[in-house]
Amino acid sequence: MILLEDALKKTKENIRILGFEDVPVSDSPGRILGEDICSGIEMPPFNKSAMDGYAVSSSDNREKYEIVEIIAAGKFPEKELKPGQCSKIMTGAPLPKGADRVIKVEVTEEKGNFMFIKGEDKSFNVCFRGEDIKRGDLILKKGTKIRPPETGIIASVGIPVIKVFKRPVVSVIATGSEIVEPGNKLEPGNIYNSNGYSVSAQVKSTGSLLNFSGIIKDDFNTIKNSISSLLETSDIVVISGGVSMGDYDFVPGIIKELGITIYFNKVAIQPGKPTLFGTGKGKVVFGLPGNPVSTFVIFEVFLRSFLYGMMGYEYSPVHMKGELKKDFKRKKTERDLFIPVLYEDGGLVDIVDYHGSAHLNSLGSANGLLKVPRGEKEILKGTVVNVRQF
Ligand code: AMP
Ligand code: MG
Repeated sequence: MILLEDALKKTKENIRILGFEDVPVSDSPGRILGEDICSGIEMPPFNKSAMDGYAVSSSDNREKYEIVEIIAAGKFPEKELKPGQCSKIMTGAPLPKGADRVIKVEVTEEKGNFMFIKGEDKSFNVCFRGEDIKRGDLILKKGTKIRPPETGIIASVGIPVIKVFKRPVVSVIATGSEIVEPGNKLEPGNIYNSNGYSVSAQVKSTGSLLNFSGIIKDDFNTIKNSISSLLETSDIVVISGGVSMGDYDFVPGIIKELGITIYFNKVAIQPGKPTLFGTGKGKVVFGLPGNPVSTFVIFEVFLRSFLYGMMGYEYSPVHMKGELKKDFKRKKTERDLFIPVLYEDGGLVDIVDYHGSAHLNSLGSANGLLKVPRGEKEILKGTVVNVRQF
């Protein structure tokens, strides 16, 4: 049995980048930037009105101004302001020459060709050229995960296509002669395939390319042929079930026969002890224990950072600090333990009802995992703990 940190180190050493590709900015959300992005323009590109109102010179203070032009957004001003003059201006329109301030429409009144000040507006209401971004500024770094704001930022400086890291193709198969797809009748001894769906959802949430390959019965040759052909067409094969010590747990033997180097197939983690990791011919195999909570936890602990790593992204989970609501105690302490917990608004951490690694439903009332390090027997009520968010 390998310690969790050693197992994680082994997987990290085997992360390999798959290269780069160009995508239009519209396809950038969720992708990892493969290049630094520098701005070729200033933002804003011109002195811009932040309000609907009247552009004036801040040194020309008076009660009444002559309106010499109406400037809509998208129109370039033609008139330069002289003392006593203003231009009616819309939000987003360029300031005319001679103006450095906009008086918002709400404190004014217009009569004929004139604007009268009726209230007070101390703000300048101008976004000055280059105040957000200077030409040549590094605005996004290589390795950034592109969220909706980053997509907007890239578009805002006029870049239509960006370089991103290639995504791994991840095949997911569920082994087990007792496993049936939802929609079918549950015969005696059968259980529905939940891992295939939860793992696939986890794979997709990283932005990796999912190849959902269904269920395979516990038959050595069938599983072997399936893994063998999936290794041809994918970068990673993720297998649920069949990695443990039972008579029909064929996966470790198959992986060996396929010429894959197995780095570990037993990890000091709970749930998820029978976890397998191997590489060969440039491909990666993860064998996940069949119990659904184990499968979920092992993905979070191992695969999420592995898949992101292949896409050039250094993932680290979000942790929420909170106070434990009740005592936690255990007898055996040789493994790092992860238990489902609910981090509540206000900073309290509740341990949810959890009967063990088959109790997938418990995750439905949890939003995080609490790690109890090996060697630790208990965490007492009131202790401040870090909850790993999922
Ligand atoms: P195994 O790792 O194959 O020994 O399976 C351990 C437990 O997980 C058994 O009770 C299986 O029935 C269950 N299991 C295995 N695969 C799945 C799956 N795809 N969905 C739900 N439960 C599963
Ligand atoms: Mg099985």
